[in-house]
Amino acid sequence: MVILVDQDNTLNKMWETFVEHASHHCKRHFPFLKADDLDVYNLAETLGIKDPDEQRDLFRAVFTNPNFWLDIPPLDGAVEGMRWLTNHPKVKQLIIVTHPWDGYDECDALKRQWVRRHMPFFDTADMCFTRHKHLLSGGDILIDDAPANLCTFPNDTIRISYPYNYECDSTYTAQNWEDVIRILDRRLR
Ligand SMILES: [Mg+2]
Repeated sequence: MVILVDQDNTLNKMWETFVEHASHHCKRHFPFLKADDLDVYNLAETLGIKDPDEQRDLFRAVFTNPNFWLDIPPLDGAVEGMRWLTNHPKVKQLIIVTHPWDGYDECDALKRQWVRRHMPFFDTADMCFTRHKHLLSGGDILIDDAPANLCTFPNDTIRISYPYNYECDSTYTAQNWEDVIRILDRRLR
């Protein structure tokens, strides 16, 4: 089986780190957001920043800061889950598929650095940088949180559950990485 895994908000807690860095950049205190508060995929909007120019400036400021990408903690259980998948005899290929921030060339390297730091057992040559995940039909299963990817991927999907993706059609739903492992353990028998 070929398994594709998204990076941001699937392997890591990008939203939490975004709120921290956004608070610092805007010199405003944003309340800590829990996953249950994230009704829309656009976090700047969730934080109450409605003006498109202000949103663009905030995203640029946060996403072009190397420390932002390196500070993000892994999602609970993701490291153990990836180690289990890496060693599983029935996983033919495990690929991290991620869409780096456009217009910031260093983003690819920082995402690789993050994986090396937290998942040193994973070969970063097996990372794929693209926004066109729906074209990767060689993957049997995609694990992801983004509505656009879950809705368009041609094969099976595991949805990492957040309020903003409740309405997405997915093959499986996981509240956490324990669920991901439970689902894949059955599929890999
Ligand atoms: Mg994601």
